Amino acid sequence: MAQDDCIFCKIVLGLIPIAKIYEDDDIIAFLDISPIKPGHAVVIPKAHHENMLEMPASLAKPVHQALQTVGRALMAATGATGLNTLQNTHPVAGQSVFHVHWHLIPRHAGDGLEIWPQGSYASQEEMRDLANKIAGLAQA
Ligand code: AMP
Ligand code: ZN
Repeated sequence: MAQDDCIFCKIVLGLIPIAKIYEDDDIIAFLDISPIKPGHAVVIPKAHHENMLEMPASLAKPVHQALQTVGRALMAATGATGLNTLQNTHPVAGQSVFHVHWHLIPRHAGDGLEIWPQGSYASQEEMRDLANKIAGLAQA
């Protein structure tokens, strides 16, 4: 069900122009209007779900297939030798459009996008305790 105040629902309905690069029954992909670099694309399910935690697992397969199809095309079109797939959930993680989407960013050697710093745990015990806490909450 489309949400009146959702810019990506408006895109799905054809109310906002986009540089479309892919469409199937469940998915649309288009170039990001404020790209990290040329070719930066956004892949969205047509159905409105606020974020990845809310999206039904049945959409995971069409999303994954589209990420592969668009990702390969993006690499071929831009001469990229790698990709970053980025999914932001909640504002603190950088989500600004609350209709679930995946960013696909083509990568080239020496492009200067150093995305994540590498940190460390204070101790092996701290790492193990956190893993145990998460595992206890992640029971299917
Ligand atoms: P996020 O910050 O993960 O929610 O990403 C939302 C992305 O959507 C941003 O990178 C925006 O540049 C992009 N975006 C927003 N409006 C449009 C639009 N009309 N066409 C293309 N990309 C858009
Ligand atoms: Zn929406």
